[in-house]
Amino acid sequence: MPDDHAAPRNNPPHMGPDEFRELGHRMVDWIADYMRRVESFPVRSGAKPGDIAAMLPDHAPESPDGWDAIFADLERIVLPGLTHWQHPRFFAYFPANASGPAILGDLLASGLGVQGMLWSTSPACTEIETVTLDWLADLLGLPEIFTSRSGVGGGVIQGTASEAVLACMIAARDRAATTHAGRAPVVYTSDQAHSSVMKAAGLCGVGRDRVRLVPTDERLAMRAGALRDMIDADRAAGLAPAFVCATVGTTSSTAVDPVRAVGEVCRDAGCWLHIDAAFAGVAAVCPEHRWMLDGAELADSVNTNPHKWLLTNFDCSTLWLRDRRPLIESMAITPEYLRNQASDAGAVIDYRDWHVPLGRRFRSLKLWFVLRHYGAEGLRAYIREHVRLAEWFEAQVVADDRFELAAPRTTSLVCFRLRAADAAQADRRNRALMDAVNDSGRLFLTHTTLPALDATGGLTGAPRLTLRLAIGSASTREQHVHEAWNAISAAAEQV
Ligand code: PLP
Repeated sequence: MPDDHAAPRNNPPHMGPDEFRELGHRMVDWIADYMRRVESFPVRSGAKPGDIAAMLPDHAPESPDGWDAIFADLERIVLPGLTHWQHPRFFAYFPANASGPAILGDLLASGLGVQGMLWSTSPACTEIETVTLDWLADLLGLPEIFTSRSGVGGGVIQGTASEAVLACMIAARDRAATTHAGRAPVVYTSDQAHSSVMKAAGLCGVGRDRVRLVPTDERLAMRAGALRDMIDADRAAGLAPAFVCATVGTTSSTAVDPVRAVGEVCRDAGCWLHIDAAFAGVAAVCPEHRWMLDGAELADSVNTNPHKWLLTNFDCSTLWLRDRRPLIESMAITPEYLRNQASDAGAVIDYRDWHVPLGRRFRSLKLWFVLRHYGAEGLRAYIREHVRLAEWFEAQVVADDRFELAAPRTTSLVCFRLRAADAAQADRRNRALMDAVNDSGRLFLTHTTLPALDATGGLTGAPRLTLRLAIGSASTREQHVHEAWNAISAAAEQV
């Protein structure tokens, strides 16, 4: 009897290799053209809320759309809705730099389509990641203990610095539960730390109310003495100081916490020390910037984001552990369906035990390609050029009486503001200046608030609106920073 309900036996639609090749060439051409024309677009998207959604149909197409229509929509819908992070005059937030080799690595990761949750689900996915992170640890001058060669520590790619701090805080929480059984864990970070620390504390059950914000000094760096006092007070109150996050390159101003002094406090207190070097840490490829990580051997974990400033497309956040075991103990859980011989023998790294998600992409390909394509000397030249351009911009600010520096510069972020008769007027003028240059589309920069510089160069007083110019796009050249200064300087006359 024929089965009337049986599905028709047609092969499901599938883009085969020939069609993929043709469209892939077309897409790569489109991307290469985008790289060439990105400078012609306003840096910041002018779209209003809902503008882009309004151009999309209410429902997915019932029958296939053609690729001509899709490519046309890249121009019509996507481009107008973009803030161009790869624009050479993108100076906002911190960069999310991209590069040809990293894009190709990402494409390859998609093309291979492997899932690297276990060593056995694709050995190359795990082993290339392990070795690439050893390479990068060496390039940054991290102590040997953080490499897999030590047999104790090792590196792993996380999606973001936020996920890295969460994973490490969970491990620290669990460790403290053993060493300080029955006591509530406490987390410490500076009053300049990234919000991801607070978020992680909320997520992992430590609680946001048990995050202590350690005061900072005149350079906006954590006061190690104050940290020690806070830890002592908490311990006396029956709590368990569990985790300290030191920042190397704070988000507002790239201030650098004194890692060694903080590390000594952590060692004495038995606290986990995590170094959040999300943006600035990659600068340690240059020996002249390694001072920022001095004392890293006292840390339990170190994190930096090649996806911010080391030519590697988002997402690639590199995390190293001095001892991988506490993290693995917190994360590991092995249902029967994931068991395999290699894991059971303890002979391999299973990266699913090194972070929150199970599944993972082959993200090391893009970092591997970047390290191979540029070589250490290319990476150093890249960082140095951005720092040089920031120095130049800083010199313009210093030489112009209308402006003042708002914080010491560490690498390629310049914090500055227009002076005015009083603080309220200064805040108004700086906001107007920022809006004017951003509305022009010529460049894009963002703001923060920082305490004002006093007569002795210390940072004291109520927070004041501060403009941030962060240099880190792969296409930024001297002329673009000159253009930015000219635009800012001219706008200062109008506000
Ligand atoms: N930590 C610092 C110091 C940062 O500046 C940032 C983002 O700018 C983060 C953490 C969060 O980074 P991610 O987006 O990788 O979570």
